[in-house]
Amino acid sequence: MRRTLIAGNWKMNGSLAANSALLAELKAGMAGQSCDVLVCAPAVYLAQCAESLAGSGISWGAQDVSMHAAGAYTGEISATMLNDFACKYVILGHSERRAYHHESNELVAQKTLRALAAGILPIVCVGETLEQRELGQTEAVVSAQLQAVLNVLDDAALAKIVVAYEPVWAIGTGKTATPQMAQDVHAVLRAQLAVRSDEVAQKVQILYGGSMKPENARELLAMVDIDGGLIGGAALKSVDFLAIINAV
Ligand code: 13P
Repeated sequence: MRRTLIAGNWKMNGSLAANSALLAELKAGMAGQSCDVLVCAPAVYLAQCAESLAGSGISWGAQDVSMHAAGAYTGEISATMLNDFACKYVILGHSERRAYHHESNELVAQKTLRALAAGILPIVCVGETLEQRELGQTEAVVSAQLQAVLNVLDDAALAKIVVAYEPVWAIGTGKTATPQMAQDVHAVLRAQLAVRSDEVAQKVQILYGGSMKPENARELLAMVDIDGGLIGGAALKSVDFLAIINAV
């Protein structure tokens, strides 16, 4: 049985003061929930998360990592730096990084290797744009995104990744994929994993992301291949994030 993972992606939001309040509210709201809970903060706030969340049952992680080990890469952050702040997870290949920073499938695969080598669990994001969906390309797009990662990992490494299906047209738009639409894509992704290994496919958590909120979380999370959520806007409000956690 796969555990459910509810992950918040704060994106480029927050401040020391706002995070402090949000983290305190989240900790206060944790009451023996059966799912795993994670917040992915901007890198400059990872020290704050580590200090605040240690021992709380809430994990913390980053939103990106460099594909390089170290060196002359101004502005980049390495996986070993994330280790210094005990990050458990890192989000990779988010559609905003793919769109605004031109991250290719191959680059995302290299970052996945780098994270795993540092012992950090990668949350590999895939998802189609509205145009691609309307052209009937959803399956081809997400499969190509996942395949690039599959190509560089052996089965043992593959079993450690988390996949997040985030249809680009549902991110921050208030438009959610229906549970069935999401389930259909999740099933495609799991089948693709199963081509490599049935055992691995049964292990890998596949999260849904894109306007997940308290009102739709329960029915999305009820789908057989939806193993959690990657939550943007609703992760910035403790009541909403806790309500999603409690919907599991
Ligand atoms: P929203 O929940 O704000 O739509 O964002 C989803 C997302 O991109 C999470 O990574």
